[in-house]
Amino acid sequence: MIKINENYLKLQTSYLFSDIAKRVNNFAGSNPDREIIKLGIGDVTRALPLACIEALHKAVDEMARDSSFRGYGPEQGYEFLREAIAENDFQAKGAEIGADEIFISDGAKCDTGNIQELFSLDSRIAVPDPVYPVYVDTNVIAGRTGSWENGRYKGLVYLESTEKNGYVPAVPDEQVDLIYLCFPNNPTGATATKEQLAKWVEYARKNKALILFDAAYEAFIRDESIPGSIYEIEGAREVAIEFRSFSKSAGFTGTRCAYTVVPKSCVAYDSRGSKHDVHSLWNRRHTTKFNGVSYPVQRAAEAVYSDKGKEQVRELTDYYLKNASLILEKMTDLGYTCVGGENSPYIWIKTGMDSWELFDTLLNKAAVACTPGSGFGSCGNGYIRLSAFNSYKNVKTAMDRIAEIFSLQAED
Ligand code: PLP
Repeated sequence: MIKINENYLKLQTSYLFSDIAKRVNNFAGSNPDREIIKLGIGDVTRALPLACIEALHKAVDEMARDSSFRGYGPEQGYEFLREAIAENDFQAKGAEIGADEIFISDGAKCDTGNIQELFSLDSRIAVPDPVYPVYVDTNVIAGRTGSWENGRYKGLVYLESTEKNGYVPAVPDEQVDLIYLCFPNNPTGATATKEQLAKWVEYARKNKALILFDAAYEAFIRDESIPGSIYEIEGAREVAIEFRSFSKSAGFTGTRCAYTVVPKSCVAYDSRGSKHDVHSLWNRRHTTKFNGVSYPVQRAAEAVYSDKGKEQVRELTDYYLKNASLILEKMTDLGYTCVGGENSPYIWIKTGMDSWELFDTLLNKAAVACTPGSGFGSCGNGYIRLSAFNSYKNVKTAMDRIAEIFSLQAED
């Protein structure tokens, strides 16, 4: 008799997005003339940078000729892309990362989800709350948690990110082995300082723990004092893995390309306490289960690092940052306490009420859809997330409509 992995039964069905869709559809059904502006989704809306398009076309032409055709490439990624990443994203910023420490993949979602396979089932896991759900669910599937009780999984250590700690969790009092951190954060938009990250690196070194640092939104950092990489922190090479993606920086959500950095000096231990380098383990996993990102897509990603590509990526992220800044300004003017929106495409808004209550008000009165914070964890109760991924025109209209409903409410 074939039996299932019963850990799947522990997973909470995410009602969040189906619930949002249901409410949006109901509203659309009874208001067919109202144009709904979606500021809830985390998907980009603008076309790929021209430099990437040109590189894609050129690579497709190469695939059309026997003489330049490419079949399977190296699972870890082509040298041309790994070199460009190491040079531009790390060495240029003083972080000692070599091309052979970079693994190209088809997404940071897969990588942040798959990485836990390398570690023992009795590892103690710390996740932020609110959280990008992939970190939690993949550990549930692997069997590292107990059941779901009162909005949380038993056995996980939740790192509360609240107004009190500026949405940057403090190191825990207890010992944990694997720590998920994400800055600039999804969903809060918060960023961490060098000093704050240095405390985590110090904790990891002291406790022989490992940090999984998700920097998928690094391209939105404009303040030079904010670290874009965990490797800007001294000592991180031994205790941290970093995830990056071209999804939000260069609009690759539908094109798919990302990478994971596993420094050769990064270590984990076996049950006898002997050290093992994590790079070899990830290399083994990657080459066993993954067959590489397509050649044209890697050429498109390489183009991000050309002079034109850099300029166009900057323009693209500036565009969304302008939207973010408008949302932040308008919601702050309305009296809301907000975080994010600077150095991040997300704005996390304290509603002073149940998340769904403000969601319904914005939808029913302004025809604007947002994401209720409660979908990201119990610390998200009472918050909503607005996303800057839309056209400036739509964001402006959405903000005007929201301001109008609040001024009408004030008159009532
Ligand atoms: N990490 C975070 C924090 C994200 O918000 C997302 C996507 O929204 C991802 C990773 C996934 O990135 P990718 O498109 O590379 O799979």
